[in-house]
Amino acid sequence: MFNTGSFGGLSVGQRAVHLRVLETTDLHLHLLPYDYYADRPWDGIGLVSAANLIEQARAEAPNALLFDNGDFLQGTPMGDFVAHERGLRDGDVHPVIAAMNALDFDAITLGNHEFNYGLEFLMKALGAAAFPVVSANLAVKRGADPRRDTTLVKPYTLIDRMVSDDLGGKHPIRIGVIGFAPPQVVDWDNHALDGRLHARDIVETARAYVPEMREAGADLIVALAHTGIGSARHTHGMENAAVPLARVPGIDALLTGHSHLIFPSPVFGSLPDVDITAGTIAGKPAVMGGCWGAHIGVIDLLLTRDAGRWDVLGTRSEVRSLSSSPKAAPRPRPDTTAEKLASVVASAHSDTLAAIRRPVGTSHKPLHSYFAHLGEMDSLRVVADAQREYVAARLTDPDLRDLPVLSAVAPFKSGGRSGPAGYTDIPAGPLALRHIADLYAFPNAIAALCLTGDQVLDWLERSASAFNRVRPGSTGTVLRDPDFPGYNFEVIDPLDVVIDLSQPARFDANGVLIDAKAHRVVSVTLNGAALEPDARFILCTNSYRAGGAGNFSGARASNLVLADEAVARDIVREHVARADSLLNDAHGSLRFVPMPDTSVVFETGPAAQQHLDQIVRFHPEPRGLTRGGFLRLKLDLSGGA
Ligand code: MN
Ligand code: MG
Repeated sequence: MFNTGSFGGLSVGQRAVHLRVLETTDLHLHLLPYDYYADRPWDGIGLVSAANLIEQARAEAPNALLFDNGDFLQGTPMGDFVAHERGLRDGDVHPVIAAMNALDFDAITLGNHEFNYGLEFLMKALGAAAFPVVSANLAVKRGADPRRDTTLVKPYTLIDRMVSDDLGGKHPIRIGVIGFAPPQVVDWDNHALDGRLHARDIVETARAYVPEMREAGADLIVALAHTGIGSARHTHGMENAAVPLARVPGIDALLTGHSHLIFPSPVFGSLPDVDITAGTIAGKPAVMGGCWGAHIGVIDLLLTRDAGRWDVLGTRSEVRSLSSSPKAAPRPRPDTTAEKLASVVASAHSDTLAAIRRPVGTSHKPLHSYFAHLGEMDSLRVVADAQREYVAARLTDPDLRDLPVLSAVAPFKSGGRSGPAGYTDIPAGPLALRHIADLYAFPNAIAALCLTGDQVLDWLERSASAFNRVRPGSTGTVLRDPDFPGYNFEVIDPLDVVIDLSQPARFDANGVLIDAKAHRVVSVTLNGAALEPDARFILCTNSYRAGGAGNFSGARASNLVLADEAVARDIVREHVARADSLLNDAHGSLRFVPMPDTSVVFETGPAAQQHLDQIVRFHPEPRGLTRGGFLRLKLDLSGGA
């Protein structure tokens, strides 16, 4: 309960109103606590479980509003099943919309992933929403200024409420709710949008609409901002714009997201204009409620009304978490909202289970990502082969079709923020659809670029930056930089690559260039021949990367030689279904320069223990589990491996 006494500013006769704003964000279609890749329950995630937190938070406050901050439509095999297999016929309600209707959301905004399945699918899904959907900076037709755009959905909504004060008195309040998405969405999902969506800068759009909302009588304005918390300096079109957005006059509170992190939390402790103790950004209360329904964001506002005008007397922000312990995980009880939600999504769940269990092919080897960073890349090579086969068959341009076709793949699932269970892990034997989703965890479309040898080398330097620098003769350095995301560790098959770990990295974990002269990649060969800096290569990749995500060298529209609707995961499924046996192509390798008397610590999933025979060249020695549950292996680098 909000302690009104802890806030000053009240004068005799004034009554305080406690208004609570609740956030879910980046649900990525995690509804039930179930891991469809592993085909087993996964406690600690899912909107159905989060419903208990939401109901509890609602019960504690006399006035509460519930918003979703975007990226709800895509992210589990259920999303692919509904979009690609079952489809949405007239009258069908998308399971996430059905769940949101049952939970009585007050409004939602759109994230970038809402567009993965195309505009028609999204609009059909939103058609069944019983709540307003707002997004101010995404337009189907651009006007002379943001207010003259024809926005895809309403730019904002005004919610009229009667709120109760601390003595039970009722007061009318009009709450303005406006939404924003990263403008990059039109590039990232260009394959599905085909130029039919336009995006504006978040801050420019806010400056245009907020005064209009005030004129329309908004007493309070909440921004549903599907954007991360980053630089305080506004640069046009910036992806993570929460800080400059918070500075826009008239915005009273911000829900943030997109980066799947927690605010307030120490991660943001050093950012200018961000106060993790007060839970504010530029003085405005803000929150970021993680992702996947594992958390909810809570902002408490203490308001008072004086001569018809509402003032914010005090604010507080916090993030509440579902327990990750299976025993403590809330289970739906009869007559609870969670139980109601579970029944609303039950048929989508059972249909998804049937879909993921259908066999599509066979692998004679186990396919896993536990040692992808050590050069054991069979799980990646299956994807690389599928991409190369698809692209090579479609390069008809005589100027391109004789160029070597390289295939870039990354271990999307390789621990990190996904935890010790977040690895690709497929036993030898029949492959079901869920295994294909395990091999390729995102519904990206295929794309191919034409790059120079130099640009390919720069991609490899980026990957080589995934490792911490290792001093020769040292022991105990943790090999992987924990902040470097697995999806940016691009392996380019069939190149043979040698990395010198004693050298400084060219890039930091966010892909920012630290030292253009630094190089760890000391040798790159293709079938035994060194890569020529000026030679041209076809590089198979995905729509996301080719659209500029991660700012990889040469990943821009002018170098695009193939982009079509085909989803990479379907290409992998077709490859697996067609092949009598997998991994028949010639493959490249990743090796480290030998470092005598040097050992490092490599953290991976505990289930890696049964595959240690694959990395005997490192003389792996298990060293127990980390606090986060990762298996620690001591690896000897003296053999160079
Ligand atoms: Mn997201
Ligand atoms: Mg996002």
